[in-house]
Amino acid sequence: MQRLGKNVGGYHGETIDITAVLNDIEEAARGSGWRFEPIPVTPRFELHTWRRQISGAAKRLYISAGIHGDEPAGPLAARQLMRENQWPVDVEIWLCPCLNPTGFPLNRRESADGFDLNRQYLHLEAAETRAHIEWLKQQPRFDLTLCLHEDWESHGFYLYELNPGERPSHAAKIIQRVATICPIDPSAEIEGRVASGGIIRPNPDPVSRPHWPEAFWLLQNKTRHSYTLEAPSDFPLATRVAALETAVRTVLEGEEARD
Ligand SMILES: [Zn+2]
Repeated sequence: MQRLGKNVGGYHGETIDITAVLNDIEEAARGSGWRFEPIPVTPRFELHTWRRQISGAAKRLYISAGIHGDEPAGPLAARQLMRENQWPVDVEIWLCPCLNPTGFPLNRRESADGFDLNRQYLHLEAAETRAHIEWLKQQPRFDLTLCLHEDWESHGFYLYELNPGERPSHAAKIIQRVATICPIDPSAEIEGRVASGGIIRPNPDPVSRPHWPEAFWLLQNKTRHSYTLEAPSDFPLATRVAALETAVRTVLEGEEARD
């Protein structure tokens, strides 16, 4: 598969109408019994959250997307998953399809106020992050969390795994399945971290990062197992969406199969 070669110095690919995508998700979610809970951020806008509620569920999974406004594949993968509506029977799911609704209209990583929202989770300055954390605090713990991203510089798909509790890993299986539809980044170093076959296992020590991403807050407060999934922006959008969707499906199936 050929790289597009478009992304020089930043993301220059397709953009999405985030309002339309969130409306599509709402239509699909309401039709299949998900519960909507908006998080008010300012009088101007809110964050959407959806919950697939199951009494006596065996597992609880959290999925978020769209924290960077120049990464359209995450919200589109969330829409695709909602439309397909294929979920493990006994897994309860929380979905935040877009954590940066003001960044997308600007096709910008940061929010309209100029914050990289995925560096806000230790020192809270952005209204979005404060509202998101207040909502998260009201939710139960999750067995696993997934954060959907893209990287405009990467040579292929890759992921971060945080798994200090040493639950059985999904990482190798995710890479194996995604590799059938999207190139995997073979680099030995990605974003300044040691990588191997598209897998990065960062130091989970919270003091190792002064600017926490969402995944770090989740690891300190809500889960012991987290994946950040990175689709390569320099490949076609449909490929990136399929890569993220496949990665999520691999985790869902893996969790369902496990006691
Ligand atoms: Zn991102």
